[in-house]
Amino acid sequence: MVAKVAIVGRPNVGKSTLFNRLVGKRLALVDDTPGVTRDRRVGEARLGDLKFQVIDTAGLEEAAAHSLEGRMRKQTEEAIGDADVALFVIDARSGLTPTDETFADLLRKSPTPVLLLANKAEGRAGEGGLLEAYSLGLGDPIAISAEHGEGLADLYDVLRPVVDAAKEREGGDAAVAETDVDVDDVDERAPAGSAERPLRIAIVGRPNAGKSTLINRILGEERLLTGPEAGITRDSIAVDWVWNDRHVKLFDTAGLRRKARVQEKLEKLSVADALRAVRFAEVVIVTLDATISFEKQDLQIIDLVAREGRAVVIALNKWDLVEDRAEAMQAVRDASERYLNQIRGVQIVTMSGLHGQGLDKVLDAAFKAHEVWNRRVSTSRLNRWLDGVLTHHPPPAASGRRIKLRYMTQPKTRPPHFVVFCSKPENLPESYTRYLVNGLRETFDMPGTPIRLSYRKGD
Ligand code: GDP
Ligand code: GDP
Repeated sequence: MVAKVAIVGRPNVGKSTLFNRLVGKRLALVDDTPGVTRDRRVGEARLGDLKFQVIDTAGLEEAAAHSLEGRMRKQTEEAIGDADVALFVIDARSGLTPTDETFADLLRKSPTPVLLLANKAEGRAGEGGLLEAYSLGLGDPIAISAEHGEGLADLYDVLRPVVDAAKEREGGDAAVAETDVDVDDVDERAPAGSAERPLRIAIVGRPNAGKSTLINRILGEERLLTGPEAGITRDSIAVDWVWNDRHVKLFDTAGLRRKARVQEKLEKLSVADALRAVRFAEVVIVTLDATISFEKQDLQIIDLVAREGRAVVIALNKWDLVEDRAEAMQAVRDASERYLNQIRGVQIVTMSGLHGQGLDKVLDAAFKAHEVWNRRVSTSRLNRWLDGVLTHHPPPAASGRRIKLRYMTQPKTRPPHFVVFCSKPENLPESYTRYLVNGLRETFDMPGTPIRLSYRKGD
């Protein structure tokens, strides 16, 4: 059997260009069954010695008459329905859009394995988008340029097991073939930190907090690096390593800075640095210098991390230099209470990157934070909780009328996102939203993670 490979993604990311590149002049047939699969192109593709069938969904969006989301859902479902793998294309130059996120949600729910392609990645303009693509939770993006034919070797590597698996199935012994094939590169839905899918961590903090020291220490101690970059290429931006049998991918801002140094002044880069690192990561370790007090710049960085919706751990570094430890700890706890409501309960771990103390605690905390970040609360538990809240602490009346909160659900995790159906959301005071978020955090044990709460109007 020939493997079927579907190309999906929002308009303009370069699906047709990729299709044409893979098919060349060998376009075999155009499936133009009216209505259902109009404009769906099927071609015979060749990549090196691999031959497979490729299905392009470009153009479908004009054909259907439903809402944008409905159309996307339909075309994507159709295309990947019987495909062996979906190539999910994003535009690395323009960065992620909400439509990309919607696609990613759809694809995550589908049983079809997904390969994430960051297209238009030629030159430097695509770097930001490439890093952002990690945040989709669909595994490592593969940088390609469909137009210039770059990155096709990487695409070859990940497609090869899929094509081979399909070929094996031809032999009639499907079960054996499937267990024989290594699909680690393809199916990324294993829990983070397991052998298949590394936990992505970024280390941020203001200049001199000790980020480079920490990273060097971690990489120095954990020599067991995996993958081709192992140990040697400290210039690579993402470094794979193994900690206590768990796979971790570390975003190396120090390496990033070395790359950028020629172009810009080092200090100026710290915020841009942090942003790139944060977008890459699932968990962000914010490094603070314990010898100086918590400042606006620390707050800005933590704020950024929370706004981007990442799980947070605070590493209180240079602990070896601190004399009055109780006092220092109390100061950070106070600052956290006062300023960090959005990540209330955040783990604060003391350490010394220089002496290699506390590394295990920090990494342990990162895995814990990741778990909370992924937590899902069932709709029934949520609504039982909401009933209790409404009995004991109902929302204030607006112009004499009670605002009704009817129902609540959690559509998303990473970070936890809750939606409340409400009669007049525009009249609910900010303070009530904060009250609900704090209550959710406490009741369902979600410390240290940003929690999203939004309202949908419904009577
Ligand atoms: P589709 O709507 O997803 O099928 O996107 P197209 O294949 O029609 O491409 C949309 C636009 O992006 C076109 O102008 C292409 O020339 C351009 N494009 C496609 N691939 C690349 C690429 O690798 N690099 C750059 N810079 N542009 C590309
Ligand atoms: P970065 O700018 O955040 O990457 O900070 P560096 O890692 O370059 O560290 C800044 C300075 O703090 C260097 O002189 C380090 O040696 C020192 N430093 C980093 N971590 C520690 C620590 O845990 N204890 C002590 N005493 N010094 C540290």
